[in-house]
Amino acid sequence: MKPRRFIAYTARTLRSFLYLTLLWSFTTNNASAQSDQVTVIKADKVIIGDGTTMNSVSLVVIGDRISEVGPSASIEIPLGANVIDLSNHTVLPGLMDMHTHINSSDHDGGDMSVLREHGAHGAIYGVVNAEKTLQAGFTTIRNAGALHYADVALRDLITQEVVPGPRMYVAAASLGITGGHSDVNGWSPLIDIPGTGMVVDGPDNLRKAVRTLVKFGADHIKIVATGGILSSGDAVDHPQYSDEELRAVVEEAGRLGRKVIAHAHGAEGLKAAVRAGVASIEHGSLIDDEGIELMKEKGAFIVPTLLILDEIIEFGEERGIPDYSIQKAIEMSGLREIAMKKAYQKGVRFAFGTDASGDLHGRNAQEFKVMIKTLGATPMQVIQNATSDAAELLGILDQVGTLEPGKWADLIAVPGNPLDDITLLEKVSFVMKAGKIYKHVDN
Ligand SMILES: [Zn+2]
Repeated sequence: MKPRRFIAYTARTLRSFLYLTLLWSFTTNNASAQSDQVTVIKADKVIIGDGTTMNSVSLVVIGDRISEVGPSASIEIPLGANVIDLSNHTVLPGLMDMHTHINSSDHDGGDMSVLREHGAHGAIYGVVNAEKTLQAGFTTIRNAGALHYADVALRDLITQEVVPGPRMYVAAASLGITGGHSDVNGWSPLIDIPGTGMVVDGPDNLRKAVRTLVKFGADHIKIVATGGILSSGDAVDHPQYSDEELRAVVEEAGRLGRKVIAHAHGAEGLKAAVRAGVASIEHGSLIDDEGIELMKEKGAFIVPTLLILDEIIEFGEERGIPDYSIQKAIEMSGLREIAMKKAYQKGVRFAFGTDASGDLHGRNAQEFKVMIKTLGATPMQVIQNATSDAAELLGILDQVGTLEPGKWADLIAVPGNPLDDITLLEKVSFVMKAGKIYKHVDN
């Protein structure tokens, strides 16, 4: 054989060998998927997640997916199935928190925490907080910013089952203006203090920042559209980015298949962000009538994060939150109650979110009773805000958010009926994520 033909022959042989190896590994993987564990969960009541309920139900889970949901009387239990009896319990889709800071420390301290802690602290806190969050029945979270890509790493290691935790969708870092909510202000210009997010100004720099965040693993982009509570030197009702900058971020993120979420308290910054095309407004505290109409028109969501503001006012001092932050929270509180209730009642889409940070991790479900009280919502509505509505906001409603055949087996159980007493969601006794049981206690 001539050398050139020999090389061609070797290449062909190598190619067929590789192909056969691939085919073999594919079929063996498929074989193991077919022999996946079958679990049957029997419950008195099921809240589907789409506003409907069913009584005396069996759910069949094969591998990581739900395969059947129906009346226990009509469902045949497959041979060798692991049967879990959850009588006197209500089963519902795994809860979803659309605004967490999973890598934050348990002793908050506000924006000053960046002087003491960095990404390595965040990585370790993240492992602890992720487990607390999952044990509390939250099987999915959308993280709204961390330091040094700690949330990207945590997301990946949870996916690889190195550590337990919820499914994570991460922002990596927030984008904010010089002197704004993502910056640390009020210190000497001679000290170089890192921001609590990425401090970036100007459309071109923002485009590069979006590309950089996506390059290193961001699932969505978080932008800071107004001042915030935990920052000094800015006001909650002042817009921060220009229209041009907001548009650049949404356009660049959209090109890369990413949604943009915008922190906004004040009405002007909120409206500018919605006009630019963000998917959700985080907080939304001072939304006005024009903002309500605009959000409805665009189908944008509010992620309300109500509980944390009440807690900053009540416990901020003992948790080391600076006085300027506590004062901002007090000043905004009354107006916020009126504005948020109006937005909810007038039909703006809402998705559940807590801003979990400090010691709020694992107490996420306490937000439900505050939502009912502040927004005038029903228990069924707030459960939908934390399941199907949240899944729709994330763009994964075809995979999760309701208990239907074919979807990921992410489900939880609580004793009694949370439609009668929403605080039962704070007493989760069973947690399954992707068909795997992470919690099962008697209560
Ligand atoms: Zn936040």
